Amino acid sequence: MATISKWFSARRWPEAQESTSELAQPTVPEVLIIGGGFGGLRAALELRHAPVHVTLIDRSNHHIFQPLLYQVATAMLSPADISGPIRGIAGHQANIDVVLAEVTGVDTERRMVHTHDLAGAYDRSFGYDYLIIATGAETNYFGHEDWAPFAPGLKTLEDAIAIRRNILLAFEAAEAETAHDPDRARRLLTFAVIGGGPTGVEMAGAIAEVARQTLVKDFRHIRPGSARVLLIEAGPRILATFSEALARKAEDKLARLGVEVKCGAPVESVDTEGLIVGGNRIDAHTIIWAAGISASPVGRWLGTKTDRAGRVQVRPDLSVQGQDNIFVIGDAASVSSHSRPVPGIAPAALQEGAFAAAVIRARVTGKSAPRSAFVYFDKGVLATIGRSFAVADIRRLQLAGFPAWILWLVVHIYFLIGFRNRAVVMFQWAWSYFTFQRGARLITYADRPDQREKVSGFVTAG
Ligand SMILES: Cc1cc2nc3c(=O)[nH]c(=O)nc-3n(C[C@H](O)[C@H](O)[C@H](O)COP(=O)(O)OP(=O)(O)OC[C@H]3O[C@@H](n4cnc5c(N)ncnc54)[C@H](O)[C@@H]3O)c2cc1C
Repeated sequence: MATISKWFSARRWPEAQESTSELAQPTVPEVLIIGGGFGGLRAALELRHAPVHVTLIDRSNHHIFQPLLYQVATAMLSPADISGPIRGIAGHQANIDVVLAEVTGVDTERRMVHTHDLAGAYDRSFGYDYLIIATGAETNYFGHEDWAPFAPGLKTLEDAIAIRRNILLAFEAAEAETAHDPDRARRLLTFAVIGGGPTGVEMAGAIAEVARQTLVKDFRHIRPGSARVLLIEAGPRILATFSEALARKAEDKLARLGVEVKCGAPVESVDTEGLIVGGNRIDAHTIIWAAGISASPVGRWLGTKTDRAGRVQVRPDLSVQGQDNIFVIGDAASVSSHSRPVPGIAPAALQEGAFAAAVIRARVTGKSAPRSAFVYFDKGVLATIGRSFAVADIRRLQLAGFPAWILWLVVHIYFLIGFRNRAVVMFQWAWSYFTFQRGARLITYADRPDQREKVSGFVTAG
C-alpha cells in the first residue's frame, strides 16, 4: 500500500519526482480517465488487461444509472438501488487507482489534469500519457439560468432526492392548507414537467401514478387523485426520437393516467408561483425541468471547437483535433456515425468508452486499431409510462403496451450495475406492480441539511 501511494504521489507532482530519487518510476503508460459514468467506467474496465496504469477521477464516489433517476425522484426506488460505489465496481482491478476529486482544468502542453480535492485533503495535479474525458452533460436552461431554482433538473442523486421531497411535501402542505386557502391547495397540487422527451414522459406518468394510485388513501383532507399533472413540450409532439405512431400511443396512455399534454407550447417564464406557457399563466408548486442538457465545460478546458450544445467536436476516432492522445466520449462529445449524429444516450457512451479503450490498447501494444472510425450500433430507444406500459422503437420493431414494458424491464435490469441492485430493483418493481405501493416515500434533507427548516417556499415542521 505504501509503495502504491508513494508511486502515485510521484505521478501527481513531476517536480517532486525529479528531486526524490528513491520513488519508483512508472514503467507503463498512464491513462487518465475523467468521469466514472457510463463512458468513463466502461473505458476503465476495458483496459483491465492492457499494459497501462489507469487513474479514474470522479467528483462523486458513485456511478449512477441515470435512466432510473426518475424512479428515485418519484419514490419508487432508493438512491442506493440505482448506484454503486466506483471503488466497489472498479477498485478490484489491479491496474487502476480511483480518485475522488473535481477536475478544474487540463494543461495539454504539460499533459497535466488539475483537480480540486473533495476528500478534505489538498488540490492535486495528475500527469497523463493518454486522457479520456467522459464528464457527461449538465442541465441546460437555454440562457434562462434564473429558472433553475424553481424548475430543478434531474441529473444527480441529490437532484432526485430534492424533487422527491418537493413532490411529497406538496401533498403534505396541501393537506394542511385546504381549510384556509383552497386556491393555494390547488396550486400545491399542480405539477408541471417541462420537456416531452423520454425523461419528461416517464416523470409525468410516474407523478400521475403517485397521485392517483399510491397516495390515494393516505390523506384525510385532500384527494391526491385530483392533482393536476402537466407535461409541457415546445415542439409539435412528445418523444421526438420515436416514430409518430408510438408517440401518439404514449400520449394516449398519458391521457388515460390523467396527464395533460401540451405540445407546441414554449415556456416563457418560470417563477415561485408557477409558469407562463404560450401566453397563459399556470399556477404550479412543483415544476421539473426535463427539457435539455449541455455538455460539461470540456471545450473550455481544451480550448477546442464545440457544437451548439457545448459538446467537443471530436475526430472519427474520438480523439481531439490536434491532440492525438486526448479522447472525448459520451455526452461530452459530438461525433457522427453512418452520417448521423450519435445520440447522447447510455449505449452510445458505453460503445464510445469501449472504442477509445481499444484505440489506446492498440497504440500501447503497437498493434493496429480495430477500426479507424467509431461506428455506433443503434439498439433503439425505449420509454415507459406508468407501471405496465412502454413504447419501444427498435429498428424495424415497434412495440407499445405490456410487451414493450416487459422488454423495458429486462433491458434496465440487465444494464443495472451490480447483483444487489438488480435483485433489489426487481423485488421493488414486483412489489409495486401488485400493491401499487412505492417503498421510498421519504421526505429527507440529506442533500441539503441547511434547508431542513425551509424548503420550496413553505416552512415544514422539523
Ligand atoms: C434523467 C436521465 C434519464 C436518462 N434516461 C436514459 C435512458 O432511458 N436511456 C439512455 O440510454 N440514456 C438515458 N439518459 C442519458 C444517459 O444517462 C447519458 O447519455 C449517459 O449517462 C452519458 O454517459 P457519460 O459517460 O457521457 O456521462 P455520465 O454517465 O453523465 O458520467 C459523467 C461522470 O463524470 C463525472 N464528472 C463530471 N464533471 C466532472 C468533473 N469536473 N470532475 C470529475 N468528475 C466529473 C460525473 O460525476 C459523472 O460520474 C438519461 C439521462 C438522464 C439525466
